Amino acid sequence: MPSQYEVAVIGRGLIGSAAARHLAEADQHVVVIGPDEPTDRRVSPGPFCSHPDEGRITRVAGRTPIWSQLAARSIDRYGDIAQRSSIDFHVQCGLVSSSPKISDWLENSAIAGGNARPVTAEWVSDNTGIVLRNGHPALYEGDPAGYINPRRLVAAQTTLAEAAGAVVVKEAASTLQTSGNGYSVGGPWGSLTARRVLVATGAFGSELLPCSLNLHRMRRTTVTAEISIQDGLPSLICVDPPDERLDEIYWVPPVRYSDGRLALKIGGSLRDSESVEQAALTEWFHGDGNPTEVEALRNSLMGLLPGIEVRSWAQKPCVVTNTATDHPYVGWVDDGIAVALGGCGAAAKSSDELGRLASTLFESANWTDTLPAAAFEPVFD
Ligand SMILES: Cc1cc2nc3c(=O)[nH]c(=O)nc-3n(C[C@H](O)[C@H](O)[C@H](O)COP(=O)(O)OP(=O)(O)OC[C@H]3O[C@@H](n4cnc5c(N)ncnc54)[C@H](O)[C@@H]3O)c2cc1C
Repeated sequence: MPSQYEVAVIGRGLIGSAAARHLAEADQHVVVIGPDEPTDRRVSPGPFCSHPDEGRITRVAGRTPIWSQLAARSIDRYGDIAQRSSIDFHVQCGLVSSSPKISDWLENSAIAGGNARPVTAEWVSDNTGIVLRNGHPALYEGDPAGYINPRRLVAAQTTLAEAAGAVVVKEAASTLQTSGNGYSVGGPWGSLTARRVLVATGAFGSELLPCSLNLHRMRRTTVTAEISIQDGLPSLICVDPPDERLDEIYWVPPVRYSDGRLALKIGGSLRDSESVEQAALTEWFHGDGNPTEVEALRNSLMGLLPGIEVRSWAQKPCVVTNTATDHPYVGWVDDGIAVALGGCGAAAKSSDELGRLASTLFESANWTDTLPAAAFEPVFD
């Protein structure tokens, strides 16, 4: 393995693996440093990631025009990534969303060329069996909306990055220091140097940065339910779901989990959830999540799909990383150090475009994209 690179990408999750691919395919001499997910999260010292799962919703309709365009650009490339890596990760099953802000979502979808259209609660019930009682308007987005398998997307991006010449170091970095006219990245595994660095470490890795970014790490619990209905369910996002302790829920239709169960995954956010420091996250990942959130998610599922039989339940802790701007930070934070951080719970579907935008920082001194650089500017604490 050479020990000197043009760019070191630290973090091999959804955004880091995408950035490494784009950099390598643009002929940059790149190394991507990031471990596989922990084999046993209950005892692992971390770092943990936000993508070790079988399903993440994908859709063009989004809360801002920028999110919608990031998603549309990424979705356009799913087929190419899958075909060239021989790793499928995208399932098209449509999306139902219900929220007081549906008209914004419809507008943003139209700006980005999406096909979302308004539907009534009756239409949703007749066509999907989902019973919406929140009184909010709803939309339906057809194919290619649905879900992606985030683990498989990371594998696909890593495969293509390697094929284009990127070196992959499956380890965590614990130090990032200036060295000569670049940086030295190190850990118990050794060290390497790079002229410039991209930090894409998700909720972890903040100790590597020479600055403190305004990031809010939110503990989230997800529940999987083996249910009697398996076919025809779309992905769902619903504001003000049946259990009032939650402000929003989402689900991914039944997919096969590593424990062999074919299960629907439901998650959301409790109204009173608060951010935590990075240091508190390791203990969080060793546990079973928040029992109140689990109960509220179960109630919401039973309210939205009345009469379903659930054969088994399981639950898991996770984390989302919010920013001050509600958009990910993609930009320089120091001379030669850029970040692509803060997925805001919504970056899986758009990770390929976020990785591409991050890669362009290393190709040109100026921001060249039609999306405004200001939307992605890192905010410091
Ligand atoms: C429960 C849940 C549900 C979600 N649902 C959706 C959804 O439906 N649709 C959607 O679009 N998005 C969704 N998201 C958001 C999406 O998963 C995240 O936005 C996305 O994973 C962020 O990508 P990332 O690369 O920033 O972080 P990650 O995917 O977490 O990757 C960061 C990587 O950095 C590595 N790392 C950390 N520290 C170091 C270090 N010191 N050295 C080297 N590597 C390090 C980690 O191991 C990890 O692999 C969801 C998130 C959660 C938690």
